[in-house]
Amino acid sequence: MTHEMTAELKERLHYSAIWFLEKGEHSPLTDEEKRSVKTFYTLEESVDATSATVIEHMLELNEKHPELFELGFLTMVARVSDKFRPATAGEFVGSLNDFIHHLVEKTKCPKCGDQLKPEIRLLDPPRFHCGTCGFSAVAAN
Ligand SMILES: [Zn+2]
Repeated sequence: MTHEMTAELKERLHYSAIWFLEKGEHSPLTDEEKRSVKTFYTLEESVDATSATVIEHMLELNEKHPELFELGFLTMVARVSDKFRPATAGEFVGSLNDFIHHLVEKTKCPKCGDQLKPEIRLLDPPRFHCGTCGFSAVAAN
C-alpha cells in the first residue's frame, strides 16, 4: 500500500512538471516557472528518500479524507513557486499533511456541525459547502 502511494506520488509530481512543459509550448515559461519544473523533478527524485512515517501519515489522511486530500494536493502543487519551494518530497508531503489537517479542522459546518465538502477546483483559498444544510464557505488561511 505504501509502495503504491509512493508510485502515485512520483507520477503526480512528474505530471506537474509535464503540465508546465506543455504550457511552455504555447507561451514561453517565466524563469520562476522554469524553476518550478526543476522543483517537481527534484521532488519526484527524492520520493524514495522520504521517511516512511511521513508517507504513512499521508496515506492515512488520503484514506480518511479522500476529498480533502485531493483538494490539498492540487492546492499545494499550485502553490509551488518562489514563495513555496520545497527542497525534497519529504518537505512537500510534510506541508501537504499539515495543510490537510488544517482543512479538516476548518471544515465543520458552523450551522449544523456536519463535515463540509470541498469543491474540487483549483481555488486558493478553497471553497466548501455543506451537503446537509446548504451552508457555503471559503476556508480561512
Ligand atoms: Zn450544515
